[in-house]
Amino acid sequence: MAKHAKLRMGMVGGGPGAFIGPVHRIAAELDGKIELVAGAFSQSAERSKEAGASFGIDPARAYADFREMLDAEKKRPDGIDFVVIATPNNLHLPEAIAAMEAGIPVMSDKPATATYDEVLKLEAAVKKSGLPYGLTHTYAGYGMVREARAMCAAGKLGKIRKVAVEYFQGWLSKPLETTGHKQAGWRSDPARSGPGGAIGDIGTHAFHLLEYVSGHKVTAINAMLRSVVPGRKLDDDCSAFVKMSNGAEGTLACSQVAAGELNELRLRIYGENGGFEWRQQDPNRLFVRWIDGIEEIHHAAGPYLSADARAVVRVPSGHPEGYLEAFAVLYKEYAEALIAFKQGNKNPLPATLPGIEAGVRGMRFIERVIESSRTQSWVEF
Ligand code: NAD
Repeated sequence: MAKHAKLRMGMVGGGPGAFIGPVHRIAAELDGKIELVAGAFSQSAERSKEAGASFGIDPARAYADFREMLDAEKKRPDGIDFVVIATPNNLHLPEAIAAMEAGIPVMSDKPATATYDEVLKLEAAVKKSGLPYGLTHTYAGYGMVREARAMCAAGKLGKIRKVAVEYFQGWLSKPLETTGHKQAGWRSDPARSGPGGAIGDIGTHAFHLLEYVSGHKVTAINAMLRSVVPGRKLDDDCSAFVKMSNGAEGTLACSQVAAGELNELRLRIYGENGGFEWRQQDPNRLFVRWIDGIEEIHHAAGPYLSADARAVVRVPSGHPEGYLEAFAVLYKEYAEALIAFKQGNKNPLPATLPGIEAGVRGMRFIERVIESSRTQSWVEF
């Protein structure tokens, strides 16, 4: 690819004390293709300025509000090339629409919006704008996830028959939201999180990973939702059965009250020939077990990996890559797509980068799980 000036990024959210904002900044800048130049980092003008100063950006470009940022940046010859959205879920739709109306592409954190109705509006706005829209389903950026995906696509497992994905955390095992904890606060508030609690926060990741890796869609789900912690307004635990478009069946579970668990995302897929297992907390290894055969451990950067996996692994085997690098893979793909877009490619997003289709699927997942749990029955997608 020809040498290109760094893309200028504006951020919404990611102010002092935020969780994912700093991850976005590090990941976006890791490959030298993107630079943070502006932001509306907080709902408080003062804290947005404070954040801007700590990131070393021009103080005039640390804005009090995202609309102010869009208006001002649109007028600058060196205005932002895209906006990253890292605020609570209820703000994703207005922020994304305002950016696209200003002609500015969007990289958003998940879930795409707060509700299913909202995501349909977002989908229409993305299509109308014609602008590249990326969605940071982080786990899609891991080399060994790309490897697992390539194995499924190449049919190495044979016909896929059984799937199991689970995402267990324990950090909401107590009513943390009543203590002033920032992240627990909005995640447990339907007005800011949307109707999904754990299913929106981490269930959407599990659901995305399952469809992304297997290459098959979930067609029906039968789910049980609970709010285990007394007084909690949204679900904190989900157990579900799923049916897939190719006839496979299996389970999807997520929980934020699995006391003691940190960030245990685990995917297992089994076909006629064997199966594999990937764990987010051990992300550089893929365990492959062949029927009546030898158990294999595939390592990130192994010369035997697929081209898709090798394309995103940065360092030799045994040199661990993790969360930040996986996130950066998504930014690298988004940056390359934006550069191609500027050069006239109207459809530059690679299939490996989650986008609006994944956003709609994720919101449909939340809506369907709630409906299934409410009616205590199977629901179709
Ligand atoms: P957080 O509460 O830590 O941070 C949110 C930030 O948004 C804060 O800095 C807050 O001040 C800012 N903010 C709120 N309202 C604003 C406004 N009107 N204008 C500007 N800034 C505003 O939340 P978080 O945990 O970082 O989550 C943020 C988003 O990222 C959520 O949608 C969440 O689902 C998503 N997330 C994704 C991942 C992932 O793995 N991809 C991980 C964590 C969070």
